[in-house]
Amino acid sequence: AGMVAEDPVRYRARTSPDRPALLETATDIALTYGEFDSLIGRCAAALLDLLAQQGESADGPRRVAYLGRNSIAQFAVCFACQRIGAIFVPLNWRLSPQEITLILADCFPSLVLYDEEFASALNRGSIKAMPVAGPAGFLGLAAKQTPATPSYGPADQTCVILYTSGTTGGPKGVLLNARNLFFSAMNFAFVGDVTADSVVLCDLPFFHTIGLVALSRTSMVMGARLIISDRFAAERTIATMASEELGVSHYCGVPQIAAVLRASPSWNPAALRRLKAIFLGGAPLPPVLIERFLEDGIPLVNGYGMSESGTALHMPLDREVISRHPGSIGFPAPFLEARIVNFDGLDVEEGGIGEIWLRGPTVTEGYWNRPDLTEAAFTDGWFRTGDLARMKDGVVYLADRLKDMYISGGENVYPAEVEAVIAAHPGVADVAVMGIEHPDWGEVGLALIVAGEAALCDQDIQTHCASRLASYKRPKHVVFVDTIPRSASGKVQKHILRQTYSHLSSSTSASG
Ligand code: ATP
Ligand code: MG
Repeated sequence: AGMVAEDPVRYRARTSPDRPALLETATDIALTYGEFDSLIGRCAAALLDLLAQQGESADGPRRVAYLGRNSIAQFAVCFACQRIGAIFVPLNWRLSPQEITLILADCFPSLVLYDEEFASALNRGSIKAMPVAGPAGFLGLAAKQTPATPSYGPADQTCVILYTSGTTGGPKGVLLNARNLFFSAMNFAFVGDVTADSVVLCDLPFFHTIGLVALSRTSMVMGARLIISDRFAAERTIATMASEELGVSHYCGVPQIAAVLRASPSWNPAALRRLKAIFLGGAPLPPVLIERFLEDGIPLVNGYGMSESGTALHMPLDREVISRHPGSIGFPAPFLEARIVNFDGLDVEEGGIGEIWLRGPTVTEGYWNRPDLTEAAFTDGWFRTGDLARMKDGVVYLADRLKDMYISGGENVYPAEVEAVIAAHPGVADVAVMGIEHPDWGEVGLALIVAGEAALCDQDIQTHCASRLASYKRPKHVVFVDTIPRSASGKVQKHILRQTYSHLSSSTSASG
């Protein structure tokens, strides 16, 4: 038989059953590795029961979808699926009912487990659905079972389908096997210095890679303690991080979250001495934010990754390196090869911009149900990320997504660069930049800006940009808005903005 993929909780339950594994902040329930292992075993037995009622599967391993907030139960079901050869599919509860229906139609699960809170978003059709809690719920059923003996599949058997954020199109179902998950967890442990003594706070949702893999899988692989929180709320997050009793050492968020934390009245960096750093990823991290946190004595560590690869490139946990290369995404993680490639498929020279290509044991084999997308995403075994970057002074800087770059008067503009400059204006609370059509220039920049406390006008922004950006990069249109739509992973939803502001396209330039 080939290599079998035992899950890490099983290993820890054998070697150190009494170590604390989990704390669920919503209920204060705490479990040791031994207790979590038997909960997973009971969930596996309950799943076997429920799936057996449906007879033989006609299309490969069964999918078990889960529509719910972060909880011990959800985490247990994720491992239980791996133990019975089923595939865990976490669903994004921030999506609309229509979007959730599209995902269910794509992966067609045999069972959907859901939190009552989201019952109305679930158009189950012919799919069997069951609430997690309550008298007729899944947890009640699991409690009555004897833990099932695990039967692990080979390391390359799919155990998770993780849908992408859908920033550039509809969400795609990324296939992840036990080997992908293990090496992704090891990558984050390595770059984030997660050890058995770490205490990791996870309030990022389990339906994205940072929450499901980097934070929570890594904790189990390393034998650390994971604190599962079902939502981000600045005051509560700060209180949890500051608790002497818990001693949180690792917290991870999206860049927007860091800005919100620091603006909170209860922000008190002196109380966060146990925290090694705040890890950020998923969206561009404005260098100005890194500076402000360094003044507070807390390093912001930028990491770059995606559903298809887990943590891919990462800054080291080193204040000196971070302040020397603000905004950089650092170096490739250990179990990963990275290249920066031009349009001819050749490696670019230092300083040139190209697409990031990845290869290694963390990289997906492809997309569920979409051989066309899988085929389009790979060249000679390399995964093409669709992200543009350049190498400078030995570290990598992300430019922007290929799809967000626009061309103004023949020059390439990377909106992320313009956003970082505008974000550094002290009066700006949030900003998004994109290209819109223009009769003379092909495309010009539109900056949507959320002003902070003080009044701010178009001219303030133009003056700020004039000394910092070449003229073709300066936004020709500035529009002040109340909020900028962002997804759960902190990404600006530019497709929504494009729809809303396409009418500006034909008008003439507003400011020169
Ligand atoms: P879709 O593939 O459906 O369009 P998505 O790419 O946004 O959605 P994810 O896999 O959740 O879905 O996100 C990965 C992407 O997030 C990366 O390809 C990159 O564009 C962006 N990203 C990740 N980390 C960073 C970072 N540190 N800085 C800037 N952008 C980042
Ligand atoms: Mg993507």
